[in-house]
Amino acid sequence: MGTNAKPRILIIYTGGTIGMIENPDTGALQPFDFDHLIDNVPKIKMLKFTIDHVSTEPPIDSSDMVPENWQEIVRAIHDNYDRHDGFVVLHGTDTMAYTASALSFMLDGLNKPVIITGSQLPIGEVRTDGEENLITALQIAAARRKDGSPMVQEVAILFENYLWRGNRATKISADNFNAFKSNNYPSLAKIGLGIHFNHDALWCAAPGSKLNVKYEMDPNVIFLNLFPGLTEITLRHLLNTPGVKGVVLKSYGAGNGPSAQWFIDALSDAIQRGIVVLNVSQCVNGGVNTRRYVTGDRMAACGVVSGRDITSEAAITKMMYLFGLGLDSQTVAEALSTPIRGELSL
Ligand code: ASP
Repeated sequence: MGTNAKPRILIIYTGGTIGMIENPDTGALQPFDFDHLIDNVPKIKMLKFTIDHVSTEPPIDSSDMVPENWQEIVRAIHDNYDRHDGFVVLHGTDTMAYTASALSFMLDGLNKPVIITGSQLPIGEVRTDGEENLITALQIAAARRKDGSPMVQEVAILFENYLWRGNRATKISADNFNAFKSNNYPSLAKIGLGIHFNHDALWCAAPGSKLNVKYEMDPNVIFLNLFPGLTEITLRHLLNTPGVKGVVLKSYGAGNGPSAQWFIDALSDAIQRGIVVLNVSQCVNGGVNTRRYVTGDRMAACGVVSGRDITSEAAITKMMYLFGLGLDSQTVAEALSTPIRGELSL
């Protein structure tokens, strides 16, 4: 796009509260179509943008999201990439951080904005946060740097007052309008009277990078959440889940777990069978530092990979992505400890 041309943005509507209406019989919210949503945002015409839209069918509550839905979103971006300056994905909040993380990995070489947003209140409600979120997301998708390149060159979540890196964000509230946060990475922009970008935090795509989408996500991964009282039988049962290739182990504090021999043995056995175990912290802030305590050190010694400060959402989707590439366990383990889309700090 030349600096004077009208920005052309594609809205990809997937569902979520933003487009929901009440079921007349039960009063429960259910997804509705894009025309209803857009009719409720007349101000959109005040933006001097060309706006196109596609909907994934049918619109869903994001609790129903599966990797096939991510593929559909990625396909919509891929098929419209050259014709559009940016993309706004309307999505439910419940699994938004998973989708944002997944898209960040699947959209290799991305150099345009993919801004995901939604709302806590449906667009038809008087106090909705949806209208403001949609308009701000469109403005961010159209924003440019001084050299004319897109201001945002990555997948990001816009919600109320902040723009977050998609694979660093987590849903932190079921009530507040500021429903998302990155606990280990600064906001990409602060939204108040104006949109104030944090230039130091924004991703800079490699010069000349080309979009190279990857559709395959391998779902043979699980979360294993540690808690005092976890038994050997349960642990071994989970680690022996048929087909499982990767385990995101949600450990205590700085990456700690029980020092009991049965625990270490069960993990070692799984790792020797080729299962990749990634250690992420249950804490929302900070990350894994297994050198700090003997209990964490023992896990590292048996081959558990440190996820450092990665979010659970980014950890599980990164595993799905890496196994989806058809990589072997050792290569996956190595790639997990290396940032590929700014999802973890070294
Ligand atoms: N259950 C809804 C969804 O994730 C919640 C929301 O959109 O806020 O689709």
